[in-house]
Amino acid sequence: MATHLQHKPTQMPGFFGLSEEFLSRNTYLSECLRKIRRGYFAVFHADYVKANIQERQGECHRCGACCKLVYDCPFLGHDAHSLPYCRIYGDLRPGACKNYPFDRVDAEIEQCGFKFKQ
Ligand code: SF4
Ligand code: SF4
Repeated sequence: MATHLQHKPTQMPGFFGLSEEFLSRNTYLSECLRKIRRGYFAVFHADYVKANIQERQGECHRCGACCKLVYDCPFLGHDAHSLPYCRIYGDLRPGACKNYPFDRVDAEIEQCGFKFKQ
């Protein structure tokens, strides 16, 4: 029996039967669905999210764009240098925020510093 488990790519869980193509569309409806999916996966597919964020490359460069998806988050602040920051950074910050972006469907912001291999 192997003593070391190799990392395997994880299968993307479904989301109410919606196709990846539909969820990835650049429409307001799909943007809303991705936001719901983000929160849903943080709770119900935490293992998938955790495994999948290990697949992403790059780093966050604090553009704040993910805090403005669908609506501007009321907890988004700006420091004296106009850099965005989260007013509830830490334990109170939702899992959906901590994990953004967790897979290629979630990664909808072109200028985001995180990228996934296609
Ligand atoms: S969009 Fe990406 S780079 Fe910008 S704040 Fe969010 S995670 Fe960081
Ligand atoms: S809670 Fe914080 S990290 Fe999440 S969207 Fe709002 S400002 Fe951004």
